[in-house]
Amino acid sequence: MRPWVFCLLVAAFAVPLATAAEPDVKLERIKKDIDFLAGEECQGRGLKTDGIRKAGDYIATAFKDSGLKPAFKDGSYFQKFTVYGRGKLGTPNSLSLVRGDTAKELTIKDDFTATGASGAGKKSTGLVFVGYGITSQDPKYDDYTGTDVKGKTVVILRRTPQADDKKPPFEQTGDESPAPLTSKIQNAVAHGAVGILFVSDRGTAGKSDPLMEADRTAGSFFDGPVFHVKRAVIDELVKAEKEKSLAEIEEAIDKDMKPFSFELKGWKASSEVTIVRDLYPTRNVIAVSEGAGPLADETIVIGAHYDHLGFGEPGTLAPKEAKIHYGADDNGSGTTGLLELARRYGKMKDRRGRRIVFVAFSGEEQGLFGSIHYCKEPPFPLEKTKFMINMDMIGRMVEVEEKMGDGKPKKDRIVVYGTGTTAGLDKLVDDANKAFDFKMFKIPGGSGPSDHASFYAKKIPVLFLFTGTHKDYHKPTDTPDKINLAGLMKVVDFAQVFAEHYSKTTDAVAYLKTKGGGADPTDTSPRASGKGPRMGIAPGNYGEVDGGVLVAAVSEGGPAEKAGILENDVIVSIAGLPVKNIETYMAAMSGQKVGAAVDVVVLRKDKKVTVKVTPTN
Ligand SMILES: [Zn+2]
Repeated sequence: MRPWVFCLLVAAFAVPLATAAEPDVKLERIKKDIDFLAGEECQGRGLKTDGIRKAGDYIATAFKDSGLKPAFKDGSYFQKFTVYGRGKLGTPNSLSLVRGDTAKELTIKDDFTATGASGAGKKSTGLVFVGYGITSQDPKYDDYTGTDVKGKTVVILRRTPQADDKKPPFEQTGDESPAPLTSKIQNAVAHGAVGILFVSDRGTAGKSDPLMEADRTAGSFFDGPVFHVKRAVIDELVKAEKEKSLAEIEEAIDKDMKPFSFELKGWKASSEVTIVRDLYPTRNVIAVSEGAGPLADETIVIGAHYDHLGFGEPGTLAPKEAKIHYGADDNGSGTTGLLELARRYGKMKDRRGRRIVFVAFSGEEQGLFGSIHYCKEPPFPLEKTKFMINMDMIGRMVEVEEKMGDGKPKKDRIVVYGTGTTAGLDKLVDDANKAFDFKMFKIPGGSGPSDHASFYAKKIPVLFLFTGTHKDYHKPTDTPDKINLAGLMKVVDFAQVFAEHYSKTTDAVAYLKTKGGGADPTDTSPRASGKGPRMGIAPGNYGEVDGGVLVAAVSEGGPAEKAGILENDVIVSIAGLPVKNIETYMAAMSGQKVGAAVDVVVLRKDKKVTVKVTPTN
């Protein structure tokens, strides 16, 4: 579509593009890759499928044909590892609470359950109630202050204080949130606890206080037992100790955000856990372009995950359909981009600069397991790995307005994460974009929901390229015919600018700490802001920073339609909160309650109109 991009690229950056092939010939070559990887034969590249083996073989062959060397001394491109499936209850599982001569033998599935985060084995320890189990700097709050939980089992409430407030003091989801079970487990481990009894908070428990399914939490990174216990059980214990019910203790904490932690004196938790897990052996596929000169001992990594959801493995958004989830965009596109870069670098002779390691990761969809494994057993030392470039979902480039209603030609959209992870990267990205003219969304953070996060956690600066989410995300409808091949190629060209820079620069490439990185500026679905509330509109102007949110479409029978909102209205305020752009729109919506009517102000032909909208889930 835009062959001139290549000329511009060469002129502006003198990138030695290895091939002089016509753009459409190159597009033909990447089409072949994505058609195979996201075709029937590869079966959605799920960990449970045989198709992922075929995809891995295809990638290794493509690396070999490109002229890149295998990463391993035995001549293999494969780094084998095992992904552990979600835990299921085996037998026996037992938990009893003992004080002196009295023992309360709890009944599995009625009084308690073991969670998939549990390690297996027997344990008997003392008990400490630690409120919500949170240690936080901002806001300052620590449930572990004044407690000694070393070698003990901790009792932890789910969620956070004031979780149901309009503006809860703690993030409820995301990297920075203390609410997820995994964050709480990590914090308990950091304080020396050896076992955990989770108990639902009032909001989560509702009337029936349901127990979690064992497979709710993934992975086993903790040796000790992790149980979920009914409130009634814990209530008895805390009442005996503090003459306060669990509900009264929660109320006290929530009221002034003062922790209320105490030892449950004399009590012991005796338990035995048996969790069974399916094992999925799988492979990262890794190739190398060795550099030359004084930087040859150092490494940069270019990566993309090639696994996906098979016939609907955990993570599917079409759980009722046992159909192939082709994963063309996610992440046949990034894998294809990786192979294209491999071919370009494979042809370069006597390349000066750092070693470039090309990694097709497996196990990403189930928890970044491939990149975590790479960082655990790196074929080239991480201390000398200076930079990581990740491509995940780069196949759905769309054109958007630079500024809403500016009347100017639309631009190709790209999201660039990690721009704050090393000094100078932000400017480099801006400079590079002069030749590409993307409508760019820059996000400084280096963590987030793809493999670059594993490298950033090891203090390696990262860049993550992404063309935005879409309605086919994690569904069987993410098919190769929907891929924008020219757009994909444009992302590959963009990625190469940074590969060139960071493989050659003699400036220090030092890690900078950033916050966040998980936000997706292209995602306006309710999923993005947790669950609901929803207004039932499709925003039409992702690009602008100011001016309001354009209503591109109104869902039939949805709250907006019922309220009389029309296509081409521009939403400028919700419940008195100004709506300038998608982000402020989402922020305003997340503060609303399902079923509670709010005033929404829209601009309609330059006139302000106020309507009452009742958001739904
Ligand atoms: Zn995915």
